[in-house]
Amino acid sequence: MLTHDDVITLFHECGHGLHHMLTQVNERDVSGISGVEWDAVELPSQFMENFCWEWGVLKYMTAHVETGEPLPRELFDKMLEAKNFQSGLGTLRQVEFALFDMLLHTDHDPQADIMGLLQQVRDEVSVLHPPAFNRMAHTFSHIFAGGYAAGYYSYKWAEVLSADAYAAFEETAGKDGMPSVQTGRKYRQAIPEAGAAARPSNRSRRSGAASRRSTRCCGTGAWPEQFQRERGGS
Ligand SMILES: [Zn+2]
Repeated sequence: MLTHDDVITLFHECGHGLHHMLTQVNERDVSGISGVEWDAVELPSQFMENFCWEWGVLKYMTAHVETGEPLPRELFDKMLEAKNFQSGLGTLRQVEFALFDMLLHTDHDPQADIMGLLQQVRDEVSVLHPPAFNRMAHTFSHIFAGGYAAGYYSYKWAEVLSADAYAAFEETAGKDGMPSVQTGRKYRQAIPEAGAAARPSNRSRRSGAASRRSTRCCGTGAWPEQFQRERGGS
């Protein structure tokens, strides 16, 4: 029996698997996931997670352990609401971490107090401020021990890229909600097949919808509507 969280993990890892399996690149160091820019490597996996939040998908792949009944629509709606609850605050928290990490590893004076820098970031982006005795920065192991130094932003950025790619599927879906085969083919060619053999900007010129949207997003710095919709925005 799989929980919904298990299914999301399964789809996520399947995205990484597809990235490897669909590669058309023969050079090992730039085929599949290998060599893909850090902030794009989670794109195919997070992209796949979207399908776990589609009613049209879930109703056909869920079954009550005793009755075999699919997931009730009301329960799905509640799960969606719970997922989106205070998602804006969650996003700002990640932006706070990412900005702190980036500034710390770029123009921050190593002799200066890091708490002053953290406060400066919080003043700029935070809505809820923790008390002054909170020293979260000292246990931020991702950036000090986890190898993410100046790369923590990649978590959120990959969500933006995957939301942008997924929006191309939403916009080209048929009246019955089924995804467009043509868009799927373009996505496959632009992302999983290409590996790290082409930069995202080159891929978009070659392949159209799915990645053209990503380039638009990267180019303008705008967060796509799909990113907001996934988090309960309108
Ligand atoms: Zn992953």
